[in-house]
Amino acid sequence: MFGIKSTRIVANHSVAPGILVIDRGRIQTIFPYHFEGLERVEDVGEAWVIPGLVDPHVHINEPGNTEWEGIASATKAAAAGGVTTLVDMPLNSIPVTTSVEALQQKVKAAQGQAMVDLSFWGGVVPGEVKNLDDLSAQGVPGFKTFMIDSGLPEFAASDEKTLRESMPIIAKNGLKLLAHAELDLGHKLAGSPAVYENFLNSRPQEWEYEAISLLIKLVRETRCPVHIVHLAAASCLEMLAEARAEGLPITVETCPHYLVFSSEQIAAGQTQFKCCPPIRDAANREALWQGLRDGIIDMVTTDHSPCVPALKQKGGGDFGQAWGGIASLGLALPLMWTEAQKRGFEMTDIVKWMASDTARLASLDNLKGALQPGLLADVVVFDGDQEWTIGSESLYMRHPFTPFEGMKVKGRVLATYLSGEKVYSLQDGFPGAPNGKVRLIAPAK
Ligand SMILES: [Zn+2]
Repeated sequence: MFGIKSTRIVANHSVAPGILVIDRGRIQTIFPYHFEGLERVEDVGEAWVIPGLVDPHVHINEPGNTEWEGIASATKAAAAGGVTTLVDMPLNSIPVTTSVEALQQKVKAAQGQAMVDLSFWGGVVPGEVKNLDDLSAQGVPGFKTFMIDSGLPEFAASDEKTLRESMPIIAKNGLKLLAHAELDLGHKLAGSPAVYENFLNSRPQEWEYEAISLLIKLVRETRCPVHIVHLAAASCLEMLAEARAEGLPITVETCPHYLVFSSEQIAAGQTQFKCCPPIRDAANREALWQGLRDGIIDMVTTDHSPCVPALKQKGGGDFGQAWGGIASLGLALPLMWTEAQKRGFEMTDIVKWMASDTARLASLDNLKGALQPGLLADVVVFDGDQEWTIGSESLYMRHPFTPFEGMKVKGRVLATYLSGEKVYSLQDGFPGAPNGKVRLIAPAK
């Protein structure tokens, strides 16, 4: 048994001084700040003590594309960033996770490699709807689908028919559908492909708007819970607010790159900023922050989606040819803390966006996402005042090629505990062998 003593422990949606008591990998209680009698206490002063973050949107790419990223590197980056659980997306690995066999390959690959805990989303693609029941029985928390070309032939877009077939099955299993919500309305990249504005105009807000309209209609018909991944178009917020007011089971995430950057600042050829849907203008960015404030956007995930630098730079600055996806694993906490504070948010908001609500999305809220007695002792010690510049020497992802490089941020992870064990410290790095577990949800029967 030991305690972590701080003036700022975030629990029960508030901040208070205390001693977080950890016993056999679980949180036991929070003692008063001046309690004496615990043999071992780590006093972290004024550093924040918060729950380990749960990032439900990462592409780890193993097996099959481990030269892009991998379980070992991704989970190190996570631990160093205060993330104690990653939920891996079903695409960009080979095979894609649309069958039980593919899921089992991922579970196997995780053994002895993961520095933090892992879970896996299944995938919905046309022609594989028959696998949804079996994957559900294996404990995936839900299924990801694309409503537009994913860029990968083996992960084809779901048309309305496929969505209609799959949503009742997912609902019956008590799970949720995660949707990449863009519909191709036929816009094309016109003008120089190195100019960001031209790329942006080729994927306008309407693409997201039409996709989300269709999803809302299907949720109303099927009652299948739907989660909108990486919302980038603020024009969709009103419609989402109405759908929620109607009682439809819809949740929404956005990502740090949409909340930090704006299209105006992206210079010609800087394809490290390319992602889909695209980063939009500054007014849109502020409207997304308002969406968080209003509670229409529930959570913030990274959508860490790296590849080899050659693919990211394919075409030498051509936004049409470069691989889409932003690498940011391990950076979300300082980025969000830096930007959220400027807009009047508190650490309790960040914990909601990146730990509690994301744990619930991954069906792991019975284990994670809060500093609450009985839950796993996944804990982060975070110095909210330390200023530093993001540089490749402090990144553990496989390819430290990220648009966040060079940014000055405030706040740094000092230590990360997984089930009560210290798995990372700023001072000593990674003190132990990888001991992360696969946390699929218990089968329904
Ligand atoms: Zn993604």
